[in-house]
Amino acid sequence: MSESESSRVPHDDNLQALTLGTDVRLQDLVDHEALRDMVRSFHTLFGISLRVFSSDGLLLAESVVGQEICHYVGTLENGLRACMATVSKARTIEPAARSKEVTHPCFTGAQYRVFSIDYDGKKLGKAVLGPFLPAEVTSVPDTLLAVDPKIDGARALELLPRMPRAKTEAISLICDHLRRTLDLILWSGHKALLTSQMHLSSVRESYRELQQKNEKLQEAFDRLRELDRLKSNFLGVVSHELRTPLTSIIGYSEMLVEGIAGPLVGDQQKFVQTINDKGQQLLQLIMSLLDLSKLESGTMNMKKGTVAIGQLLSDVAATLAPKARKRSIEIECTVEPGLPDVQGDPDRLRQVFVNLADNAVKFSPEGSTIYVTAGPKSLDDSSDEEGFSLLEPSRRMIEVSVIDSGIGIPEDERERIFDAFYQVDSSSTREHEGTGLGLSIVKRLVDAHDGTVRVSANHPTGAIFSVVLPAAAQRSQLGSPARRPG
Ligand code: ADP
Repeated sequence: MSESESSRVPHDDNLQALTLGTDVRLQDLVDHEALRDMVRSFHTLFGISLRVFSSDGLLLAESVVGQEICHYVGTLENGLRACMATVSKARTIEPAARSKEVTHPCFTGAQYRVFSIDYDGKKLGKAVLGPFLPAEVTSVPDTLLAVDPKIDGARALELLPRMPRAKTEAISLICDHLRRTLDLILWSGHKALLTSQMHLSSVRESYRELQQKNEKLQEAFDRLRELDRLKSNFLGVVSHELRTPLTSIIGYSEMLVEGIAGPLVGDQQKFVQTINDKGQQLLQLIMSLLDLSKLESGTMNMKKGTVAIGQLLSDVAATLAPKARKRSIEIECTVEPGLPDVQGDPDRLRQVFVNLADNAVKFSPEGSTIYVTAGPKSLDDSSDEEGFSLLEPSRRMIEVSVIDSGIGIPEDERERIFDAFYQVDSSSTREHEGTGLGLSIVKRLVDAHDGTVRVSANHPTGAIFSVVLPAAAQRSQLGSPARRPG
């Protein structure tokens, strides 16, 4: 069997779905609108009332016109009782599946025909056709005259013929016709049911597959998270263990450079100085790794307080001034007057801006100027914090930007540079030393301060790193309650 043939063969589940379940009901299978239309048009065509019931006795469709003889009989006490008994009996008749129709006589001489509605070998309901007057009834039957002493024979004779008449063979033909039409309606209903069942089972199958994939993904995610945790632990432990001997190497090389162990001759001074420089570089890397592992594991100690941002930025500029001076780069700080303090850990915030300014110096051309600016972040600036002002209208934010005119960062790299160990892979940045850890530490530190950091392009060249941090709650002068400006 070819692959396409085998895919057309229904699976066991589908085979089951092709046959009707035992609990299928007429009302679930049939198109109600089509059934009502059919009942109405049969009534219009033959003038005989028709009702369709489900197996559980629910009236699904009817088209009925009251008969004058029935109204008349209903005005008589005994007549009404007899009439109700006949109608309720007609309702309770249950013809066997696939049997011929059952005739139910009425005391008026009229008749009902009841037949079962079957589909796929199952009895789903019944149809009740009538009342109608058989063609052979030509006079008022005794059963009608005997139903109530007050009955008027002449009136009965006048009204009885107004009932729809039909020959027995004609009624059988109508019933056959009805059965065939019902069959068609049921067949198309079954088809629709099958289609929806198939659709449902294919949706169920896709859902099951999706669930399985989801579970696998979750497992992979959990495994990765565990690996990530192990990696952080490993980094933490290894870095810690490396730092101790390294501190000795740096200490002893410093002592050697200072001549504490005796004067150094020839190239010795230069070599020992190199050992010291490289040791410092390695220590820097180890400290960064330790910071990263602490930030990732959430064990970084933060001493939150209020930080005067102007003072902090001057410190940062002073720290980097010697390095900048070597390349004739100027660092210019501008802080808007009256800027509130920032909420945070001064050492960690200092680390954030030293990292950013250090990068700016590293990637800027000689003789250029780096601008460090600080000012309030206007709340209606929705460029990056959409809906922020609506959520927390009373919270004030401060924006610090480090602006350089260096090589800049291509747009498609801007998200990734905050990943650990990520460096923009171009020959120009490779010239600069670095570990790719600085910005990932910056990002995590800013996150830990409930702030945001983003990078954009400076024009014509360069990068702008903007950090937004929450302002510390302001204490107003003279002890009056704090007020929000304007
Ligand atoms: P690194 O130690 O390499 O500087 P960072 O995490 O601080 O590590 O920076 C990651 C990368 O982002 C850098 O290698 C560089 O490619 C790019 N980058 C960071 N700051 C700047 C900047 N001001 N101008 C241009 N590129 C930058």
